[in-house]
Amino acid sequence: MALNEFDDLKIVALAGGVGGAKLAHGLAGVLPPENLTVIVNVADDFELYGLTICPDLDTVMYTLAGIASPETGWGIAGDTFHCMESLIQLSAPAWFRLGDRDLATHLARTRRLWDGETLTQVTRHLCASLGIGPRILPCTDDLLRTIVETDEGDLEFQEYFVRRKCDPAVRGFILRGKEAALPTREFLAALEEADAVVFCPSNPLVSLGPILALPGVRERIAGANTVAVTPIIGGRAVKGPLAKMFSELGRESSAVEAAREYRPLLRGFVLDREDASRTGEIESLGMRVETADTLMRDEPGRRELAARVLRFAQSLAAE
Ligand code: GDP
Repeated sequence: MALNEFDDLKIVALAGGVGGAKLAHGLAGVLPPENLTVIVNVADDFELYGLTICPDLDTVMYTLAGIASPETGWGIAGDTFHCMESLIQLSAPAWFRLGDRDLATHLARTRRLWDGETLTQVTRHLCASLGIGPRILPCTDDLLRTIVETDEGDLEFQEYFVRRKCDPAVRGFILRGKEAALPTREFLAALEEADAVVFCPSNPLVSLGPILALPGVRERIAGANTVAVTPIIGGRAVKGPLAKMFSELGRESSAVEAAREYRPLLRGFVLDREDASRTGEIESLGMRVETADTLMRDEPGRRELAARVLRFAQSLAAE
């Protein structure tokens, strides 16, 4: 049997929700499962009805398990909303949409957390139950929360993102807990072993930013072979508020600004073909640039982009 081209590569992928999950799924399609570790943002997590909800971890888990809802980008395909309908009838808060099967994840997670397991242990159990091969790890087991500073005051991330539909103008971010939160032992060990670290096309400000803000993480990544995929195509975000956030913060909504966020950690940046004219600007930030069609339209598209990213990382390692 022919050896798979990437069989010897150990990869750590940093991911938020939707964009991160898509590339992580592509990587899972081209790497042996034991060679992929996906490190996921937890600063979007929150509590509702006493339940611990981890939107980015859930999106990555459901996507890698092949059960994510393709229409919404969150939740489980074909889920029902009977509990939600009853909550509405009871005049209980219903701004965060919770599907019935999705709710089971939050119940199972919260019970284990109450029993004293760490989020890393809980996530391992959930992934095993869902038949997921690659390792999915929260970046920290400690409390880490993004607070969005807006022209209407400070908002918890999900209040801003879901309840207020990203409407208030963003002035900045506070990362609550960042003084005390530590990256997990498992995260640091995976970095130690990695041949390359892939920054998925996630929001650099609120998805990968919190992972990189954990003490010691930037220092450890600085020596690694690192490649990012642009989260911005043609000046626009494929999904989510990144372009709006950049412009409200007085920055250009562009792949160049996304690349700038990761300086000086990146060796390589995968830029969309649509933005090829910006290649020189990104190279002047000290990174090599590869242009590709980065819009992941379907599962083969995810795998194709993942293979492209890995070949780029291999070429950087050979330099
Ligand atoms: P969130 O936590 O659900 O907002 O998800 P992420 O932070 O992981 O991803 C949001 C970013 O992913 C946005 O900036 C999107 O533009 C980007 N994104 C989503 N799908 C794609 C894609 O197919 N290709 C690229 N290049 N970026 C994407």
